This record gives sequence, C-alpha cells and structure tokens, in this order.
Amino acid sequence: MKKKNVIAIIGRPNVGKSSLFNRVIKEKKAIIEDRPGVTRDRIYGSADWLTRDFIVIDTGGITLENATFAKEIKLQAEIAMAEADVIVFVVNHQEGLLPDDEMIAKLLYKTKKPVILAVNKYDRKMNQDETYHYLTLGFGEPFLISSTHGIGIGDLLDEIIHKLPSPKEQDQTPYPSVALIGKPNVGKSSLINTLTGEQRMIVSPIPGTTIDAVDSLVKYNGKNYLFVDTAGIRRKGKIESLEKYSYLRSLGAINKADFVLLMMDMSEPISDQDTNIGGLAFEAQKPIIIIGNKWDLLPTEMKDRKRREAEIRAYFKYLRYAKIIFISALEKQKIGQIYQAIDDVDASLKRKIQTSIFNEVLNRAQLLNPAPDHNGGRLKIYYGSQVEAYLPTFVIFVNNPDYVHFSYKRFLENQIREQFGFEGVPINLIFRERR
Ligand code: GDP
Ligand code: GDP
Repeated sequence: MKKKNVIAIIGRPNVGKSSLFNRVIKEKKAIIEDRPGVTRDRIYGSADWLTRDFIVIDTGGITLENATFAKEIKLQAEIAMAEADVIVFVVNHQEGLLPDDEMIAKLLYKTKKPVILAVNKYDRKMNQDETYHYLTLGFGEPFLISSTHGIGIGDLLDEIIHKLPSPKEQDQTPYPSVALIGKPNVGKSSLINTLTGEQRMIVSPIPGTTIDAVDSLVKYNGKNYLFVDTAGIRRKGKIESLEKYSYLRSLGAINKADFVLLMMDMSEPISDQDTNIGGLAFEAQKPIIIIGNKWDLLPTEMKDRKRREAEIRAYFKYLRYAKIIFISALEKQKIGQIYQAIDDVDASLKRKIQTSIFNEVLNRAQLLNPAPDHNGGRLKIYYGSQVEAYLPTFVIFVNNPDYVHFSYKRFLENQIREQFGFEGVPINLIFRERR
C-alpha cells in the first residue's frame, strides 16, 4: 500500500509556522473536518503537490504544560526527527536570527533527515545581501517565503518533494504489516509482548528487504506478520502520556501499515480519545480490526459478545465495516483470533468478484429498492465491475453520477457487503456516466 510521507514544520513561536501550515494544507482541511469522528486538531493535515501526497505536522502545536521553551522545543524537535521524512525549519525575517533559532538549529544537527530552511515574513523582495547570514545556520541556501502573502511557497514545496524519498525506495513489505493503535493503557505493550514473546526482532528472511528497528516481525503458524512502530509502544516515558503525541504516533503507524488494529479497554467506557483515534484509521482508508481487550476483567454478566459488539458499533458508525474481536492480552486469551482476523481481512482485500455476479447483485438491489429522485433526476444503473486496486473498488456506470444520493450509495455498499462480505475493509464505489 502507498505510504504517505510526513513533513514536520518547526521553529520558535511567532515565526509563522501555523500560517505556513495552513497555506500548505488549505483546501484539504475542509474535507478532513467534514468527516465524522475526526477532531479538528490543528497540528496535522494532508496536502499534495504535483504527484505527491503527504501529511504536514505543525510541531508548534505539541506543547508541554508549565515547561520552559527549551524543554518544549526539544520535544518538538525530537518528534519532528522521529516522525518526519523532511523537516522545514522556519525563521522570521522581520526579527532576524535570535539565539532560540540557533538552539533549534543545534537540535536539528543530530538528524540525518533533510532539513529545509525557510525564511518567513519575507514579504517583499530585498537586496540579496540581507539574507546571506542565514547560511550560518548550516542548512544551505534558505527559501525566502511569505506565508501570508503566498510568496515562495511553490519553490519551497518543489524542494520538499525533491527531498522526499522516492516512491520506489519505500519498499513494499512482503508480509502483512500491522499497526497497533489505541489510547494509553488499553494494553498495547502487553499485547506486543505477548505476540513477540521471546522472538523479539528477527532478521528478515527475504533478502533485500529491511525491517525498521522500530518494527517487530512475528511468525505465527508459519506465516510472517510485521507489527510496525512497536518501539514507541514498548518504550514508555513522559512523552507517551501526551495525548497529542500519542495521536501523532498513531497517525505515523497507520500510515506505515497495511492493516490497523484499534485496541480498546473493555473494562472502561468508550471515550472520545478512542473514537478520535478510530477516526484516523477511517480517514486513512485502511482495513481495520477493532480489538476489545481486558475481556478477563468483565464480570460474567457483561461477557455478552453480541451486546459489547453492538455498543462498539454504535460509537464507531463510520467504521461499520470493521471486524471486532475480544481478547485478553495479559491472560493470553484468544490471541490466535488476531492472526485469524488479519488473514480474513487480507482475503477480503484480495477477493475478486466476477462481473456477471456483481451485476446480478446490482440488479437485485435496484429491484429491492429503486433509487429515489435526487438532484433533479432518477438514478439509472446500467452495469458495473470491479477494477484493479488495493482496496476493493467498483466502477458503476449510470445515467448521471449527480443523481446518486449518499444514502443510496450506502445502500448499495451494504448490499455488496451482504453478498460478498469484505469484512474489515473499506470499499470504494465510483460512479461514472455511461457515454
Ligand atoms: P507560529 O507561532 O510560528 O505558528 O506563527 P503564526 O503562523 O501564528 O504567525 C504569527 C504571526 O505572524 C501572525 O500574526 C501571522 O499573521 C504573522 N505572519 C505569518 N507569516 C507571515 C508573513 O509571511 N508575513 C507577515 N508579514 N506576517 C506573517
Ligand atoms: P498501553 O499503554 O496501551 O501499552 O497499555 P499496557 O500494555 O501498558 O497496559 C496497561 C495496563 O493494563 C497494565 O497494567 C497491564 O498489565 C494491563 N493490561 C493489559 N492488558 C490486559 C488484559 O488483557 N487484562 C487485564 N486485566 N489487564 C491488562
């Protein structure tokens, strides 16, 4: 699956980080905020430029309570260096270089990731001499930009794209790669410990493929599964308690993986933090399995799987395709179901539906529930077929795609799921006008 790259923006307060962030993600944002269950968090957003999609993080939004600037910026730099493929270091031309800028530069020297220096608030062209001293920071020629006036942004984005790893370098893993996400204390590290047992890190048996030090490769029933970003799960510290950072970590892991395991603590009520993290998985359009952990803590009368499942579904309406399983990571109960679920979802992903059978289902769906009038006309479906794509994707030819009402699309999706399953995976329906 295609991995999205991450760009982090860093700099001291008031240099214009959020202004730059907003300019880079501008149109995308409205779409993100429209989705259910997705918070209006302002620290990350998706953007694209030319042929590349990426995620932008404004590290200035990750703050510590009652901390000195030095502590705070150190955390922001660490996060930028850990999560980003390219770091944009912003300084303010109106104020010139300050000792705080030099402090940030020193922190960034430690990274091997590309750092691009952006001199912001460069609102009007000036004598080139005025900018030579920025070279002393050690990040090469600066990009002179004005976030509020929109000057130099295109050149900066060109450079960002240029510095991103090429799509080919981002190798496809030959095993299912899985992100385990969830709010703190739901049992993620316990599960990783149970899953990896004694094996910890195994060297990849397939030549030419590398496994990040932060990932764990696990063998089960003769098959390999790669759990991504497990280092962050194992290593606990003050940072992990930061809600925004755990949110970002989830985003990073989701982005790297083919499958998402969303873990919740069944001994506690479902919270906003659970649904927000679920929203990330939905947003990323990844196959998802919801794991209800700590089943052992439930009193017998609460151990009604159907009921607990219905409760979860009520909270995660937008993840209605998700598969749900219940386990106890601590007591090592039902752990095998996790692998089974991944295998099942993997099979759903690879399922190909014969065109003739698909069209029977479309016909039957229309007989059962003819499309209502919408946008000044009535939808007529001619035929459809599955097309080659990572997620199950169906192109449906109709008289006019504008006549497709949201609820009718959902009805068709439900009919397709009822017939073919596709449990755990998002499916795409694309409506095209037949010419
Ligand atoms: P942050 O604290 O680094 O995120 O900075 P902000 O993006 O909040 O910007 C701080 C202030 O600088 C705001 O009042 C912005 O309107 C202003 N600002 C940001 N970029 C520019 C710019 O390119 N030119 C000018 N003149 N002002 C800017
Ligand atoms: P993380 O923050 O999501 O990595 O959560 P941890 O794995 O650190 O677990 C948080 C706490 O919940 C620890 O005290 C674990 O021992 C406990 N815990 C984890 N899984 C289970 C479980 O299945 N049952 C019970 N009873 N406790 C669990």
